[in-house]
Amino acid sequence: MAVIIDGKELARKIRSNLKIDCEEIKSKGVNPKLAVILVGDDKASKVYVKNKNKACEDVGIEFEEHILESEITQKQLIDLIEQLNERKDIHGILLQSPIPNHLDINEAFRKISPDKDVDGFNPISVGKLSLNQDTFVSCTPYGIMKMFEEYNIDLEGKDLVIIGRSNIVGKPLIQCCLNKNATVTVCHSRTKNLKEHTKRADIVIAAIGKSKFVTEDMVKDGVVIIDVGINRGDDGKLTGDVDFENVQKKASYITPVPGGVGPMTVAMLMNNVIKATKNQMK
Ligand code: NAD
Repeated sequence: MAVIIDGKELARKIRSNLKIDCEEIKSKGVNPKLAVILVGDDKASKVYVKNKNKACEDVGIEFEEHILESEITQKQLIDLIEQLNERKDIHGILLQSPIPNHLDINEAFRKISPDKDVDGFNPISVGKLSLNQDTFVSCTPYGIMKMFEEYNIDLEGKDLVIIGRSNIVGKPLIQCCLNKNATVTVCHSRTKNLKEHTKRADIVIAAIGKSKFVTEDMVKDGVVIIDVGINRGDDGKLTGDVDFENVQKKASYITPVPGGVGPMTVAMLMNNVIKATKNQMK
């Protein structure tokens, strides 16, 4: 039976340490503050933003929400980002994705000041990550790296397979895992013989968005499984991208859904806001 990686508990621990950091910052007269921009009324995004708000309250970070109509123009969005960049009382800026199709999200990410880019999506942050320089690492990959660290899972020389190549999860993960000396393979929707790759992997990270996609026959004994997927079934229940019940019998470590990667993502966002505040105080 696998060790269940308890992301909820680890996230709680990280947040309680950040709370102490936050109090120390406040004692110097600075109030760490995150600005979140939400465009339109995507239901899942609203839930994510609410969770981020709650986490901020818990840590002691101030939260400012900008809810914009889905019809806004690109100029209105960029103007808001630029105003937030200028404001000294805002330390982190997050643009919740997705945003409506008529808007250019790449330009928006580019306009967020790298000093306030707590989601790590500005090309400067992405470039620094690929050069293994200090930067804001996007929160989901960063949370996964923290889990490896906490559970003493050494990546050096390991065969690590990432399924999914999105800009927010798969791609930054490649770099994070390479920086830890793993031998990284990235699989995606056009990969042939996916099972051949996953079957030989010491570590499999699934970021696909398809419920129970990774099954027992696709992995080897002792595999470490990180399940990034969040899929809501017709019954309202959340499942991951991994068939948890059956795969856990073969795995050495596995993350559950919910209670695995999700809470870590939010904790690392809090971490990045505190880091941004400290950097801006220097
Ligand atoms: P995405 O849709 O942008 O990317 C999905 C990736 O899966 C693509 O690269 C695609 O090539 C790959 N894929 C699709 N079908 C495949 C197949 N049959 N075989 C192999 N690869 C296939 O998704 P995303 O934004 O990276 O999110 C992935 C999942 O992770 C979603 O369920 C999302 O909700 C979840 N997610 C969770 C967190 C968290 O904090 N836990 C954060 C971000 C995303």
